Amino acid sequence: MKIKETIYLDYQATTPIETQVWDKMVPYFREMFGNPHSSDHFLGWNASQALEKAATRVGMLIGSDSNEIIFTSGATEANNLALLGVSRRAAQGKRGRILVSTIEHKSMLAVSRILQDQLGYQVEYLPVDHEGLIDIAYLDETLNEDVLIVSIMAVNNEIGTIQNIEAISNMIRGYGAFFHCDAAQAPCALDINKFARIVDFISLSAHKMYGPKGIGALYIRHDLQEMVEPLIYGGGQQGALRSGTVPVPLCVGMGTAADLVMGEWGEQSRAELRKLRDNFIQQLQGLPWSITLNGPKKHRHPGNANLCFMGFSAHEILNSLQPYVAASTGSACTSGIPEPSHVLKGIGLSEQEIEGSIRFSLGRGTTPDDLAEAVQLIDKTLSDLAELKHH
Ligand code: PMP
Repeated sequence: MKIKETIYLDYQATTPIETQVWDKMVPYFREMFGNPHSSDHFLGWNASQALEKAATRVGMLIGSDSNEIIFTSGATEANNLALLGVSRRAAQGKRGRILVSTIEHKSMLAVSRILQDQLGYQVEYLPVDHEGLIDIAYLDETLNEDVLIVSIMAVNNEIGTIQNIEAISNMIRGYGAFFHCDAAQAPCALDINKFARIVDFISLSAHKMYGPKGIGALYIRHDLQEMVEPLIYGGGQQGALRSGTVPVPLCVGMGTAADLVMGEWGEQSRAELRKLRDNFIQQLQGLPWSITLNGPKKHRHPGNANLCFMGFSAHEILNSLQPYVAASTGSACTSGIPEPSHVLKGIGLSEQEIEGSIRFSLGRGTTPDDLAEAVQLIDKTLSDLAELKHH
């Protein structure tokens, strides 16, 4: 997919909204604009029905009931609601430890610091191996009955590692701890329709799956809803777990997007993406530069290629590729902050390897022509940069 002159290879930062999704949303901004919480008139009922349908669809994506879906502004808020919500209610309880993987999204790491500094929990970081996979034996060793909640993402946003959520869940359940999973990157990477059975809290984001920005959800299992302290107090919407008028058009968009990614559309795109991605890596590795793949060999998001251009600076490469190729160093959320990626550090890369690493993420609109052109542009950029260095 090209946006004017730009080949877009940053689908893990955000996806464009799918036309069918947009079309379903528009009426809820216009003629069906009713407040879903207005229970005294037809327009309100209409909006409320649309909301229920959207929650049902999001629920189906993960295999939950509609009333276990709490709409939020995105996965950042969902992560905050899960971790802060559980920890605030459980404060002074007997479980004082919280386990979080080292390669979580910044929103999880930031909230973990608050749990430690302001709520007095002992937060511990779970190591990963060279591919970004959780060390299950270590998890087993460190788990005990003092652990309140464990948070491990399903699919990493930088290197695309797909965790074995089922094995992790079995282990955590054995110790009676809660399991939260940030699944923001999962719907485009794998089928997650059994997740609600094995995970207690699941964070989702619509703009990572061809839906609109500004909407996400937290799945909270029925029987755990009383154990979550809200972040936002007000009119008591969504079972008082997240007060505020629910944005119906955005929810309708998220529901429609969920429906797309969980169906044949999603399955087909995953298979196609994998082929395109592998071919892209192969083409790049055929160039006369040292280009290596970071992260997992097998358990990887089908659209993710995190590559190290040894001896180069990723920032310089991307900078000189503008405006022709959109990709990123680290995650979009961390770009701009001049810190090396904690994920690449977490899998044991050296400073120099991190410095030269770029995440390319492919998606629905990516074509073989886009990739062939990107390969040529990258080759030319590397030649130019190498030449500059010699002079
Ligand atoms: N978690 C993961 C794994 C993500 O990739 C992102 C988006 N970068 C988020 C959370 C935050 O999602 P949102 O933009 O919906 O707040």
